Amino acid sequence: MKAVVFEDVGLPGLHDRAVPSVGAGEVLVRVAATGICGTDRAILLGEFPARRGVVLGHEAVGTVAAVGAGVGSSAPGDRVVINPTYHCDRCRTCRRGLPAHCGAKEGREVGVDRDGTMAEFAVVPERFVHRLPASVSYRRGALVEPLACVLNNLAAARPRWDDRVLVVGAGPIGALCALVLARRGARVTLAERDPGRVALARELLPPTVLVLAAGEAAGAGAPDVAVDTTGSLPGDVLAAMAPGGTVVVMGEKEAGVATVPLRSLVTRGIRLVGAGPYRPADFELAVELATELPLEDLVTHVLPLDRYAEALAMLAVAPTGPGRPAADGYRAMKVLLAADGALAP
Ligand SMILES: [Zn+2]
Ligand SMILES: [Zn+2]
Repeated sequence: MKAVVFEDVGLPGLHDRAVPSVGAGEVLVRVAATGICGTDRAILLGEFPARRGVVLGHEAVGTVAAVGAGVGSSAPGDRVVINPTYHCDRCRTCRRGLPAHCGAKEGREVGVDRDGTMAEFAVVPERFVHRLPASVSYRRGALVEPLACVLNNLAAARPRWDDRVLVVGAGPIGALCALVLARRGARVTLAERDPGRVALARELLPPTVLVLAAGEAAGAGAPDVAVDTTGSLPGDVLAAMAPGGTVVVMGEKEAGVATVPLRSLVTRGIRLVGAGPYRPADFELAVELATELPLEDLVTHVLPLDRYAEALAMLAVAPTGPGRPAADGYRAMKVLLAADGALAP
């Protein structure tokens, strides 16, 4: 099968791999599409550690091709979405209800240190395969995983109905935050530095979402909740918060560092929180919400696996040559890699 492999920083490659064999308790999924995520991008830019030689990708939908011994919840032909946040259910962290932060993740992070889904097939433990509702297309279902992440991070803000919300960064995660919040009737401002993404967000999101170039966001009033999806927490975000506000740090970069004026946390009662990936219940909720949220609106491109380089270039990753690739601006929102390149809308 064809697979997009992380050879080294700046070096993805299309490889021929054996179709993985399916063991007891496992499901073989014929991948229909995988969304390219900020994490894949960060891996290729050297900003997120990953195993050399790993098949990239973790936001995947597809059809069950075969099941291993003892599998009862999936059958060949099922349309499914993969939950790639594997956890052991046995360590202390899992038992304390924090499976997203499982202490036994090594070798289990899909598309990071365990082969991912930018391939024609992927093998997944049975409990991490969820059936897609009939009304959810693959194009829409491919955004279930990032939606789950968004749900967990928005919940961490403990939002109130009268909150003003600022989302920093209009990539797919920021756009999903805005889509969910707008659906809930919240007043949302989306701030973005990249002019291409400002234009895309304005075009793709409902008109109730105010999309501003970074720097203009102050005009929207002091936010009660801010969600930073950039991994760099711009200093002016903390300073702009309303008293009692909550800042959720959602984007992550290995070397992301911010300077925080501690006194402002104390005197203005600001909460700075991190939530990380989702719990299994968030993933199940994301599958349900996918029946009503027009997630596919954020998909601007669907390309076949072998055009991965073009897909990455649209996400500001120049994918050839050794060393650190140059980023030259975004030309896409969500890009899907489809095994056959022909995904029904
Ligand atoms: Zn992702
Ligand atoms: Zn665990």
